[in-house]
Amino acid sequence: MSQPITVPLLDLKAQYATIREEVRAAVDAVLDSQQCILGPVVSDCEAKLAQYCHTAHAITVSSGSDALLVSLMAEGIGPGDEVITTPYTFFATAGAVARLGAKPVFVDIEPKTFNINPAAIEARITSKTKAILPVHLYGQCADMDAIGDIAKRRGIPVVEDAAQAIGSEYKGRRAGSMGRYGCFSFFPSKNLGAAGDGGMVTTDDNAVADSLQVLRVHGMKPKYYHSHIGGNFRFDSLQAAIIAVKLKYLDRWTAGRQANAARYRRLFEAAGLSAQNGGQGVVQLPYEVPGNRHIYNQFVIRVPRRDALQAYLREQKIANEVYYPVPLHMQQCFAYLGHREGEFPESEKAAKETLALPIYAELSDQQAEWIVESIRSFFKK
Ligand SMILES: *Cc1c(COP(=O)(O)O)cnc(C)c1O
Repeated sequence: MSQPITVPLLDLKAQYATIREEVRAAVDAVLDSQQCILGPVVSDCEAKLAQYCHTAHAITVSSGSDALLVSLMAEGIGPGDEVITTPYTFFATAGAVARLGAKPVFVDIEPKTFNINPAAIEARITSKTKAILPVHLYGQCADMDAIGDIAKRRGIPVVEDAAQAIGSEYKGRRAGSMGRYGCFSFFPSKNLGAAGDGGMVTTDDNAVADSLQVLRVHGMKPKYYHSHIGGNFRFDSLQAAIIAVKLKYLDRWTAGRQANAARYRRLFEAAGLSAQNGGQGVVQLPYEVPGNRHIYNQFVIRVPRRDALQAYLREQKIANEVYYPVPLHMQQCFAYLGHREGEFPESEKAAKETLALPIYAELSDQQAEWIVESIRSFFKK
């Protein structure tokens, strides 16, 4: 050990090498058919995705951002409405709400899981609240029993932002199967990534599935008759063909990520760096809620001197990332919401302390050891 090794944050080339022939055959079949948008390849892929997510329907769309947008559109959300969500997420979550002229109403996170704190939701519900939009951040489900209870009691639909959480489970229930809508992304860095943009909405509700299908094609049904204003949220057949191939390997890749997470825990503990299990170390490892299936889209640690550690690791050629450095209530484009620093202290604290380490399935023992050793040398300095 101690030999510097370059580690990327994600190694999609290594993954592609294992499925190259299969993907190319699937892509060729689509090209030969010249049925390039929606069609049978997309429907077939949707049936497999719905089965995987334990839902009655999966409606593929143009991106994860559009999955959120079209779901909120299907709820008829617009100006004057409010949607409760977390400020500690990727921009698209609240961006979808704001694009429809509705107001994102933020609720702080639980520090252990980084997910929305259900205990703080109810106080923010008003007569204008039209949806609750929890995010299953980093691949672990939010506290869906507590959120579902509130939603049911107050008659408000839940839209799950499951963009980072395909296959993740909460007490045996799959991400995307617990709310009225489950929104997913096939952005290449997600656990199930396309060769470009893509996404989907899952639902158990037949009427919801129908309206999503219509909104996806400009609200058109039948052809050239538009009862609602939708958008072009269509999914490409090429992407569907690739997703259908990759879906077969998803559980294997997820197991690889989970094994890597377990290895990190062993290495951090052995190095005396872990703050878990009575350890006196400086590194807070990801908390797995008992009963959850965490799919580790990201392996996110919490550390002191985060920015310095990030710079040090980059010098060591170890890629890492901060998800996310600026909570959404502090984003310039949301200044009109009138939030101030200190309003969502747990989100602000997380934004200053968290760091995502490489967790992709192909990460080797040697690479993982080198990462932990580098973190140890940083904190010894
Ligand atoms: C990736 C992501 C999205 C957006 O998905 P795109 O496919 O990139 O549009 C939305 N929400 C969260 C939490 C995400 O991580």
